[in-house]
Amino acid sequence: MFATPAQRKKWLEPLLDGKIRSAFAMTEPAVASSDATNITTSIRLDSDEYVIDGRKWFIPNAAHPNCQQFIVMGKTDRDAPAHRQQSMVLVPRDTPGVKIVRDITVIDHTAPEGHCEIEFKGVRVPRSNLLGEEGSGFALAQARLGPGRIHHCMRSVGAAELALELMIERAQARTAFGKKLYQYGSVGEWIAKSRIKIDQARLFVLKAAWMIDNVGAKEARQEIAMIKALVPTVHTAVCERAIQTFGAMGLSPDTPLADSWTWGRALKFADGPDEVHLQSIARKEIKARPYEPGHESPYLTPAV
Ligand SMILES: Cc1cc2nc3c(=O)[nH]c(=O)nc-3n(C[C@H](O)[C@H](O)[C@H](O)COP(=O)(O)OP(=O)(O)OC[C@H]3O[C@@H](n4cnc5c(N)ncnc54)[C@H](O)[C@@H]3O)c2cc1C
Repeated sequence: MFATPAQRKKWLEPLLDGKIRSAFAMTEPAVASSDATNITTSIRLDSDEYVIDGRKWFIPNAAHPNCQQFIVMGKTDRDAPAHRQQSMVLVPRDTPGVKIVRDITVIDHTAPEGHCEIEFKGVRVPRSNLLGEEGSGFALAQARLGPGRIHHCMRSVGAAELALELMIERAQARTAFGKKLYQYGSVGEWIAKSRIKIDQARLFVLKAAWMIDNVGAKEARQEIAMIKALVPTVHTAVCERAIQTFGAMGLSPDTPLADSWTWGRALKFADGPDEVHLQSIARKEIKARPYEPGHESPYLTPAV
């Protein structure tokens, strides 16, 4: 959306062809990164090059052998208004000064593509590697995260569906105390509640997708925030019930359930913690119905 034709040719086309991968590096260990105005990585112009210094973490893909490019968010102007201080630059992975410090495990799971901590020390890239304009980094992040969030939600609906499928199979195959597991009220209820929640989530995600297609990601912001706050909770709740139905095996690597639960859990932070989405949903709802003393709802009985 924001790359120049030369940037597209060099990076986007091989990405779309599946020849390379990229990583998006915004989050930093030292600051609360759900508020992106906090980030401290410095991106300083030095004649015709940008010099990058900072530390990022939880950066997926960075450990993958095909990952060749990072999109790094940092500050180009600390004196600008809070949402105009940030910029994004394209940093080839093999640039001197880029160091993968470690691949962080997520609840003891190691992802082969990584959730890496990365150090950028005196990293120099040509000025032409700037994405968009200087100061547009915050807006670029918002533009990227909206559509990214719906993809997470679509995958989560699929993951929950798989967990339910496995739970139903296990509940029919396993006998305890003379009855199939599904014949116990609790297990039957888990199956029913999971079906209800998954179908609610799927329809809500479809609505958000429809809105993105028809009115654009910006106008669909409220719906995107709502599904992002809802769907990972459905994903983990269904996995949790499926794990319980499987007994100890549910926690082992012999089912995909523990891994799936872990990913669903991580999604309650990734691309913004639930609380931040809930706060923005509430803000919009409140703005749409400003309270005016003397103009209370006609459905209330006036005080005498
Ligand atoms: C699997 C995974 C993948 C990730 N992928 C990426 C990636 O591709 N690129 C990247 O840059 N980062 C990535 N991240 C990092 C992720 O985006 C951050 O963890 C997230 O934005 C939260 O930032 P933080 O960890 O600094 O938490 P903090 O900002 O320190 O927040 C901590 C907690 O404070 C509370 N909180 C914060 N703000 C509010 C508020 N307004 N109202 C109420 N409570 C609040 C919430 O409970 C929140 O969980 C990933 C993380 C994980 C786990």
